Amino acid sequence: MKKNKALILDRDGTLIEDKNYAYKIEDLELLPGVIEGLKLLQNDFLLFIVTNQSGIGREYYTISDFHVYNNHLINLLNEKAIKIKRTYFCPHLKEDNCECRKPKTKFIDMIIEEFKIDIKKSWVIGDHPSDIEFGLNAGCRTVYLTTGHGDRHLKELDAFNIKPTIIRDNFLEATEEILKFH
Ligand SMILES: [Mg+2]
Ligand SMILES: [Zn+2]
Repeated sequence: MKKNKALILDRDGTLIEDKNYAYKIEDLELLPGVIEGLKLLQNDFLLFIVTNQSGIGREYYTISDFHVYNNHLINLLNEKAIKIKRTYFCPHLKEDNCECRKPKTKFIDMIIEEFKIDIKKSWVIGDHPSDIEFGLNAGCRTVYLTTGHGDRHLKELDAFNIKPTIIRDNFLEATEEILKFH
């Protein structure tokens, strides 16, 4: 059966350690539970990465550096039989006021359009309040992970009244929780 639900994954701090503008493949480190969690969910969900990469706009690294690093991640996942359908990245700075930087929904809109996704049954998983806003803006369910920057920004969820569907400190536990929703 054709899958019509999406799992829209933040990258840094969600799938891999957030090492502040990292782009060298020797720095790439998968977070615990990610492989197991993605394996659990990929039967039911199409997997996408949506990532803000202002390091490109800041000229810390180039678009080509970004692709090398990201492809390394995609290959590591492929080796474990996990298939990421597509990666979407915003190279801009916040000040650029572009249409693609999360929490703006341009990339989710593209995913819905191209892959005929049922957005109400889809999820955004991220470690930053803007990931949750991104999901809420699009009408998704959301997981806030306290990995990566999540712990540091936890207070902002209350302060700005941003309500994730669930909050977890481990990717695998989050995915087990997602499987309970229909
Ligand atoms: Mg992140
Ligand atoms: Zn952008």
